[in-house]
Amino acid sequence: MNYRPSTPGTLGAMIFDNRFTRELPGDPETRNTRRQVLGACYSRVKPTPVAAPRLVAHSPEAAQLLDLSEKTCTSSHFAQVFAGNRLLTGMDPYATCYGGHQFGQWAGQLGDGRAINLGEVINQRAERWVLQLKGAGPTPYARTADGLAVLRSSIREFLCSEAMFHLGVPTTRALSLVLTGEQVERDMFYDGHPRREPGAVVCRLAPSFTRFGSFQIFAARGETEVLRQLLDFTIRTDFAHLGAPSPAVYLQWFDEVCRRTAELMVHWMRVGFVHGVMNTDNMSVLGLTIDYGPYGWLEDYDLDWTPNTTDAASRRYRFGHQPQVALWNLAQLANAIYPLIEQTEPLERTLAGYQGRYQQGWQTMMARKLGLKAFVAGRDEALVDGLLSILPLVETDMTIFFRQLARLAVNNPENADAADDEALMAPLMSAYYRPEQLTAATRGRIAGWLRAYTRRVGQDGTPDEVRRRRMNAVNPTYVLRNYLAQLAIDKAEQGEFAMVADLLAVLRRPYDEQPGQEAFAEKRPDWARHRPGCSMLSCSS
Ligand code: AMP
Ligand code: MG
Repeated sequence: MNYRPSTPGTLGAMIFDNRFTRELPGDPETRNTRRQVLGACYSRVKPTPVAAPRLVAHSPEAAQLLDLSEKTCTSSHFAQVFAGNRLLTGMDPYATCYGGHQFGQWAGQLGDGRAINLGEVINQRAERWVLQLKGAGPTPYARTADGLAVLRSSIREFLCSEAMFHLGVPTTRALSLVLTGEQVERDMFYDGHPRREPGAVVCRLAPSFTRFGSFQIFAARGETEVLRQLLDFTIRTDFAHLGAPSPAVYLQWFDEVCRRTAELMVHWMRVGFVHGVMNTDNMSVLGLTIDYGPYGWLEDYDLDWTPNTTDAASRRYRFGHQPQVALWNLAQLANAIYPLIEQTEPLERTLAGYQGRYQQGWQTMMARKLGLKAFVAGRDEALVDGLLSILPLVETDMTIFFRQLARLAVNNPENADAADDEALMAPLMSAYYRPEQLTAATRGRIAGWLRAYTRRVGQDGTPDEVRRRRMNAVNPTYVLRNYLAQLAIDKAEQGEFAMVADLLAVLRRPYDEQPGQEAFAEKRPDWARHRPGCSMLSCSS
């Protein structure tokens, strides 16, 4: 550790304690050439300096994690550091080695191709935060790509990381978004139409960026000792509560990764988030949402929706399939750590428990979304199944539906039984994209479910006001709608960054009605239905 007397709140006051590079085997080669890196967890590599760093946005809450003041964040020194132009004393930049299954196929070595970890900061609360630049130039793991990132994908990563945090979804964080002043060429839909786009760098924060694929690469190569070192390190650093590493603790660790992953899936299903590229290299062992690429937010409730054009054919990563894919990915992680345990049975038992855990978490979450006191097994399955059968009947905005359902007055169930379908459905009408699709039969089914719901809430005896408060605490009104992110990108590409700041401000309080900000809570306008960036995204970023 290096203790230096520095003004509190400044970059110079940050204390670095770089355990990853200190305790794990590194690559002896220090030239920045693309290659297979054997027997090492990381390679030291410096960010590539850029022409003209300019801060576009920063997250005050993320800055607090590093004890940085607002004044520090808006200084030109800050932009230089988080563009990768200047290294602070104590930083020790490196890129990590990992592999992964991409779309179900083993892809071999991947690694941080354009991510460079600057070091680990210990904040005043003794928390450890790894600082990572994304888009700061190529590393030994860059393969055939350029190591850079463009403004559009950087805005998406920056805003969504912070939006997820404020929604209460486990995620890596985003400290800053800096324009590099350089242009980057991208063929957005890989169809022979490259264009030059503004380059940008995002600084991400996480206690650790270790992925399932970080373990897979050493298992695939038979590098069991490095595998053991990485797992022991991970347990000591991020799972210290499990105790000293041993085969029994490895199993407990795997159990905890399964639990955290199941919880993460429940959160994604709760808020309507579709990751888009759930490759094993994009799965955090801490159960964090990581690597915001062609993700999307569910608009109409469609379990089969995927935002990723690369996945359009097989829809492996579609909304409703995410919990299953997570389990498949966990099975790959189990295979990877097997050489350290050498017993299949306990690993299989843990994997077998995932389904039940997820199911239970999902039911509890659905009960909360509906404002029930608890999910009553044997009784509430029918209510939830009924809901899932009415949501896809016509195009229904998931976010607005749950928010508006809270407005339904249910305190007098007899009234609900008497009310005609139209009156009962009135609060929900703003959730429908095409109200003309609501035939009498469809209205009848929806109203039928609303009556069942009303009776169920009546059994709990919860006053409407209490139920509304409960529901509004888990059903957001503001999410980073795909078209809103795209509008902010369109403006930013014209040099106007106000909308990035406006969105960040609104998304800091996603559960609160914010007078004057209603436009950000509306359903997708029709022009955005098929527009690239709004409904279709690619991995090109
Ligand atoms: P992703 O699909 O974005 O998770 O990336 C898969 C792999 O490709 C990772 O190893 C990334 O670091 C790498 N990668 C993606 N984009 C670039 C880029 N522009 N330059 C270098 N490596 C990249
Ligand atoms: Mg990735």
